[in-house]
Amino acid sequence: MTAVSIRCDTCDADIVLAEHLRTAECPYCGSSSVVERPPSTDRPVPTFALGFVVDQARAISIVQTWARSRGPFAHSGLKAAAVERTRGVYLPAWLYGARASADWRAQIGEEYTVIETYTTTDAKGNTVTRTRTRTETEWRSLAGDYDAFVNDVIVTASNGVDNASLEEVEPFDLRALRRYGPEVLAGWIGEEATLSRDDCLSQARDEATEELGDRLGAHMPGDKHRDLRFQLALHDEVADLVLLPVWVFALRYAEGKPPVRLLINGQTGKAAGRVPLSVPRILLAVLLGVGLLVALLIAVGVIG
Ligand SMILES: [Zn+2]
Repeated sequence: MTAVSIRCDTCDADIVLAEHLRTAECPYCGSSSVVERPPSTDRPVPTFALGFVVDQARAISIVQTWARSRGPFAHSGLKAAAVERTRGVYLPAWLYGARASADWRAQIGEEYTVIETYTTTDAKGNTVTRTRTRTETEWRSLAGDYDAFVNDVIVTASNGVDNASLEEVEPFDLRALRRYGPEVLAGWIGEEATLSRDDCLSQARDEATEELGDRLGAHMPGDKHRDLRFQLALHDEVADLVLLPVWVFALRYAEGKPPVRLLINGQTGKAAGRVPLSVPRILLAVLLGVGLLVALLIAVGVIG
């Protein structure tokens, strides 16, 4: 296949696609400031790829359902645009794993019940003595070691899709990973790993630390805990560049304004995106609402 390399000047994505898929608009952000560039030779080659399970027809129907669900305040033309603007992209990401060991300390709380007596006034105005139960917590300090593996941290290597957006369509089923070969990309749009490996790995370490913090919290004994602190070391790190299948719907109403974009997990169909609301339509709805209210008030005789 003859490949064409393009760069989007708006979102800085470096995209590689087959000649017949040559596009004048960035598949990620809908910007028309794309320029052809020479193929890059210094980019890391992916180790693994995940195949597409969701086909184009299903992706388009997901976009159309989403556009409908935006309700009457969404821009018109959203549904119609779905067919031509839903594109399958292989998104580069780093798959990170490591062995973690942590020293932790925390306050562990054990709950117990006390029965207390109190005096109150009953319905007839008599002073009476009653009992009630109350839950108290006894706190003690505890420290320990915790060892665990993380092996499924995914961080974006794409300039076109930031990490928060990718997280919204995770998880991917990594059991379906297979070795990457250039034939994987045939017929698809692929992005090159535009973010540096070091930046991606430091992001991956942050995510791994956060995940381990959650797991450590769940591992705490007692009924509850507080002031959990830990020192974490990551060893035996593994990082592989993988290509993830995503469908992207991107539509730009005006240059300089953020695009409407829906991202769909190409394996599971999980979708996430944001759409700017149409201000004229909202104003119209508000005016209609006020009009109805006035009409109603006139009808019941409050005004007039
Ligand atoms: Zn772009």
